[in-house]
Amino acid sequence: MAVALVLATRNPGKLAELKALLEAFPVVLHAASDFPGAPEVMEDAATLEGNAVRKARALQEYTGLPALADDTGLEVEALGGQPGVHSARFAGPQATDAENRAHLLRLLEGVTNRRARFRTVLAFAPDAQTLHLFEGVCSGYILEAERGQGGFGYDPLFVPEGYTQTFAELSLEEKNQISHRGQALRAFARFLEQWLNKV
Ligand code: IMP
Repeated sequence: MAVALVLATRNPGKLAELKALLEAFPVVLHAASDFPGAPEVMEDAATLEGNAVRKARALQEYTGLPALADDTGLEVEALGGQPGVHSARFAGPQATDAENRAHLLRLLEGVTNRRARFRTVLAFAPDAQTLHLFEGVCSGYILEAERGQGGFGYDPLFVPEGYTQTFAELSLEEKNQISHRGQALRAFARFLEQWLNKV
């Protein structure tokens, strides 16, 4: 019998990514948007883990279904790990992706250490008492100017380690194979295989 899971996102891109990854599993995937009254969770925790847990817990509580939530941040070495949990609002509360990238480039003007990493944390709340965390990290560096049309967010500025292209120049498939979110999702999929045998 298929198990229903709900994903704490209103982002169709993320839902599609997860659906593709979990295709082989006997799960029926719902999005938070399938539950019109579901609470909007403020992403104002101090850590990626904190935000992911908050979102998973709130949705599990509201729907009664096992819930999965993610939070991602770009951690830049020369900026002491910033923007990290503040990545979405780096240039201000309503900042666009382009404004966030421009802000990052300004802060890194003349900085030679361009090392950075993306980190994704996934929180899975199967019931009101239990919580499982999964992490994915992708290291690389920040360019001095944007390159590429694909992807989203900071992708045109980020070159993963061992590559010469930015995430925005790689295909989505290539990106998913090495990306922070791909790694975290695959860790979750490995866990899910075991978990489904127990429910
Ligand atoms: P969220 O946790 O997915 O909402 O992402 C937080 C911030 O990181 C937003 O500014 C996103 O645009 C950015 N971000 C998340 N994932 C990626 C990625 O894979 N590439 C580039 N930027 C990303």
